Amino acid sequence: MPKVSSHDIRKIIFDNFNDADTRFSNDEILGYLNQIDKYKQLDDVLDFEDVLLEMEKSGMLRPIAQNFNTRYYRLWNTLELATCKACSSSTYFAPNEEGKACPQCGANM
Ligand SMILES: [Zn+2]
Repeated sequence: MPKVSSHDIRKIIFDNFNDADTRFSNDEILGYLNQIDKYKQLDDVLDFEDVLLEMEKSGMLRPIAQNFNTRYYRLWNTLELATCKACSSSTYFAPNEEGKACPQCGANM
């Protein structure tokens, strides 16, 4: 299984759930990941649980409920486009997030 990149999940959330009142689940994120070629084979939310846990710790995701392996979230704050000064790639961060690091090169953002 390919490692799921934080940027790909951030883009899915930005494109589909970028509202602090919207509830979404890891199952829904998996559905969107499956539409991306390299993640077509992904079939288990546990395959990217570590990425979501990091997003909880950084202050981006607010866990609100859990039912077996399905976890429901809201955003604490909406995501904004951010461009890395070191490598010029773009991703999405919530303004309040701590330890923002570029998913491409690891530089502080
Ligand atoms: Zn970078």
